[in-house]
Amino acid sequence: MHASPQRQRALAFPAPLVRGCPSTVSAFGFQRGESLPIDAHLEAIVEVARRSGQLVLDAPTGSGKTTRLPWALATALQGEVWVLEPRRLAARLSARRVASLLGEPVGERIGYEIRFERKVSKRTRVRYLTEALLTRHLLEDPHLEGVAAVLLDEFHERNLHADLGLALLTRLQATERPELILGVLSATLEGLDLSPLWPRVEVFRTTGRAHPVEVEHLEREEERRLPELVVRAARRLLREGLGEAGGQILCFLPGAGAIAACARDLEPLTREGRLEVARLHGELSAREQDAALEPTGRPRIILSTNVAESSITVPGVVAVIDSGLARMPGFDPWSGLPRLEERKVSRASLTQRAGRAGRLGPGRCLRLFTEHDARARLAQDPPEIARQDLTELRLTLGGFDLGLEELPFLTPPPAETWEHAGALLRHLGLLEGEHALTPAGRQAVGWPLPPRLSAVLHHCREVGEAHRGCALVALLSERDLLARAPWGDSGALPTGSSDPLDRLERLEAAAGSGFAGHRLRALGLDGGRSRSVWRVAGNLRRRLGVEREERGASPESSARLQRALLAGWPDRVAGRRAPRSERFVLADGGEVVAGPTTIVREAPLIVALEARREGGQGRSPRLHLASAIEPDWLIEVDPEGLVESIEVSWNEGGDRVEAFSRLRYGLIVLTESRVPAEEQPETAHLLAAALRERGLAALGDPEGLESLLGRLELLHELDPALELPELSEEGLWRFVEAACVGARSFSELQRRDWVRTLEARIPGPARAKLARWLPESMALPRRQKVRIRYARGQRPYLASRLQDFFGLKETPTLAEGRLPLQLHLLAPNGRPVQITQDLPGFWSRHYPQVRRELRGRYPRHDWPETP
Ligand code: ADP
Ligand code: MG
Repeated sequence: MHASPQRQRALAFPAPLVRGCPSTVSAFGFQRGESLPIDAHLEAIVEVARRSGQLVLDAPTGSGKTTRLPWALATALQGEVWVLEPRRLAARLSARRVASLLGEPVGERIGYEIRFERKVSKRTRVRYLTEALLTRHLLEDPHLEGVAAVLLDEFHERNLHADLGLALLTRLQATERPELILGVLSATLEGLDLSPLWPRVEVFRTTGRAHPVEVEHLEREEERRLPELVVRAARRLLREGLGEAGGQILCFLPGAGAIAACARDLEPLTREGRLEVARLHGELSAREQDAALEPTGRPRIILSTNVAESSITVPGVVAVIDSGLARMPGFDPWSGLPRLEERKVSRASLTQRAGRAGRLGPGRCLRLFTEHDARARLAQDPPEIARQDLTELRLTLGGFDLGLEELPFLTPPPAETWEHAGALLRHLGLLEGEHALTPAGRQAVGWPLPPRLSAVLHHCREVGEAHRGCALVALLSERDLLARAPWGDSGALPTGSSDPLDRLERLEAAAGSGFAGHRLRALGLDGGRSRSVWRVAGNLRRRLGVEREERGASPESSARLQRALLAGWPDRVAGRRAPRSERFVLADGGEVVAGPTTIVREAPLIVALEARREGGQGRSPRLHLASAIEPDWLIEVDPEGLVESIEVSWNEGGDRVEAFSRLRYGLIVLTESRVPAEEQPETAHLLAAALRERGLAALGDPEGLESLLGRLELLHELDPALELPELSEEGLWRFVEAACVGARSFSELQRRDWVRTLEARIPGPARAKLARWLPESMALPRRQKVRIRYARGQRPYLASRLQDFFGLKETPTLAEGRLPLQLHLLAPNGRPVQITQDLPGFWSRHYPQVRRELRGRYPRHDWPETP
């Protein structure tokens, strides 16, 4: 797309007015509320939005982007204005705020919609909804009938669904809905340029006129718990008089758990009446959430997640305490399932957080980490699309029948992640080819579940287990239910066949008792999380129209659910290396080792649902969630993946070849039985290779064979024209290998007569000449038969005692005189006295001297003067 420079308008926003001033926006029908910096510009912004249809509004938190602009647009347009929020909490609170400004309950003209919760009516003009829901709406109604404008709020967060929403909406506007107004709202644009996507874009930008905030860091790293650091910082702010005039301290913490822990540690201060505590996070009731935003006029600390960073403005804040942490959307690299993970926030977020203290006047920010830590952080978090698992995104695009190249992405998905996502979706049976969905895939697109869990639920439905299946996928999609390790107080390690099914049964037992506290404790379940999983399960059932099944829980039903888990993790099948071993081999290679929390301690074949790399690189991942499977199930899931074959291998210690008939799934051996190795074609090859490694000596009679080979080599030298078996190294081994056929061990080979076998391969004329020219032995005057020594690469020789040669005048020869024979003349003790090829010379020159010496040493032997 052609990139035009973004047109920018700088807005001179007046400084924020004090709360309670008469409203200047009555033109838009607000009944009450302070005047906000954006108010004076609303008409201009609406006007430009209508003209260009592509709007960027970059203004500091608290300007009124979220609560003012949507309604202002709605009054000027026909149709609904939709505002996409990254967080459920922001969608709900913003809708309530605007509705109350209009003096009516939420769900009338102002509504909201989040997962499993919808408050809208026919009269609704502004709808706040979470980003992922836009996609679902577009799947049902690709034209977005009745929607006049869509604003993407908090766009600087660059969540996956925001980027997808932007691409889908941009395409819709460019094709079928040219009059649709699109806008991006952001508290900080920092380098974001939409002009490549939006050629007509108009940018409103304010530099903001916040007050200075004095930021302080820890001097050095501290080992203390986070709540202790928070209490210390709060005490210090109180000591310094902050918060006394009813000022609020805003404290950023990573999640609900840390918030609860800090609230506990702050209790002494609360009891003393010096500080009130309020909490702000997504798991609270609406009343508690509202309370956090209503100043009490007394000193108060608001313990909040990163919702207060820019999506929700907490009023009256004069100081900030920042843990520097947040629980952010990430994914489990093992399964690709979404997971919230605690991470250090970027420098951009730190700046935003500190800025919360500077709205009313000069503020303070105490950071619970060092300046060094702050400087080492990423300037900005990379967009999610560049670092997240993309399985769900790819499935969604399949739902639109769109290929990647058909959508204008601000940041294109990385090719490798995209390919990986396609491969997994095909494996799950949701995708065919590049972007055609299977019938199961079509269903899955509409479900509020990650693709793996959709595949599980799809299978559950097929086998009539949708009711329990909804609870099963709900517990896998939410945080772990277990409050403690599954073995309870007794310390005995239980054994079971499936971690998820074990949790499901506990959950069902707890639900049966209405989540009574004593039952939850006995079952080892976390009450809050269990109830929330049960709610999600109920919502899913309603969404899928699942009726209560009469059958209920039974071992057969549990087996069917276990089978369904395989449908979601077909790529994570693992086989135990040996009975009761902790180690598993994965079908595609690699290894996992059972962690201490899995109860699946005996099953030989499992799916590894969750595993984490712990204790550094090179270590095998630790298995945390496993579920046993039956080999038969693999036949249904992936019949081509099962391969039966005979595998032949060399047994080093036994000096033999072994053969097994094995049924494998990838690298996992499902069944194994021994078969006769000698019948396998590869056996001779393996045996010969082992022999080659070990040398001919392994054949038992190395000399006989070596001698024959030596003679053949010599014969070839003497008469190259003669036809002989091939004697090169390779030729020899071919012969050995051929001769190995039908055997499987060294001991069998040793029982063979290798010399005769080789001889039998020598053509007749050559064999006759061999016997004549290069005999195996010869007669000496005083000895019948003396062996002639042959070996490859060596001259032949004959060794015998000196006395045996007495009476022999000439040196004996081979090959009818062509080759003099080397003689080793030995003393009675077997040591050579002389090595010679010239016997007459020896007799005349050396013998007299040799005789004298030998006569002295061996007087009882006969040493004639003329031998
Ligand atoms: P922006 O989206 O630009 O960050 P908002 O529209 O969210 O700004 O908020 C504008 C102002 O409205 C804030 O300064 C805040 O004081 C006030 N406000 C917003 N929501 C609430 C609420 N739920 N309760 C009290 N005041 C609120
Ligand atoms: Mg906002």
